[in-house]
Amino acid sequence: MSRSSETARQTSDLRCFNCALKVNLRIRQFLARSRANGPGTRAVVWVQGCSLDCAGCFNPETHALDRGETIRVENLFQRIVAETNLIEGVTISGGEPLQQPGPVIELLRLIKENTLLSIILFTGFQTDEIAKLNQVNQALLCYVDVLIAGRYDQSQRVAQGLIGSSNKTLRFLTQRYHLTDLEAVPPAEIILTPEGEVVMSGIDPVKW
Ligand code: SF4
Repeated sequence: MSRSSETARQTSDLRCFNCALKVNLRIRQFLARSRANGPGTRAVVWVQGCSLDCAGCFNPETHALDRGETIRVENLFQRIVAETNLIEGVTISGGEPLQQPGPVIELLRLIKENTLLSIILFTGFQTDEIAKLNQVNQALLCYVDVLIAGRYDQSQRVAQGLIGSSNKTLRFLTQRYHLTDLEAVPPAEIILTPEGEVVMSGIDPVKW
């Protein structure tokens, strides 16, 4: 069996496994529309839970594995589908998405197989670490357009173009976006949600 057909078989096996499972994803927050988390207007999912413990992390509230809320992946997908006429993609951030690989791959599969939305994935794992993670983590990259990988290093802080620190690596896994698209993303935004909540986000969010 060729390498590509073997990879396709493994991906198919994983897909069947996850379809059979009514999976829940633990998230910190879902934002239906954002301008500061990738090119264009995007839905953003911040997953809950990260054990990587980067010094100076600006999302420490996402670290605890037992906080946030659990949501059925298919319900989260429906919330994204409701926005498809208003957004061009979905950004998955955290927390650490690769520490919930089963539900994340199921969400990405649903998005890519049923919509034309792009996917940007942030992870604190470095690309060489991802290669050593389990098959699910590696397989989910086939649904990703842009991967932003690596720990946040506050001594190399950049905070622009979706890059928190200069040690992070950018991988354009499809032709959908280029570096200039990421460089045009505003570093911060303040959103007042329909529920009256003020959300500050972006790679350099406003603090007060
Ligand atoms: S990987 Fe991301 S969420 Fe996790 S500690 Fe580092 S910066 Fe924070």
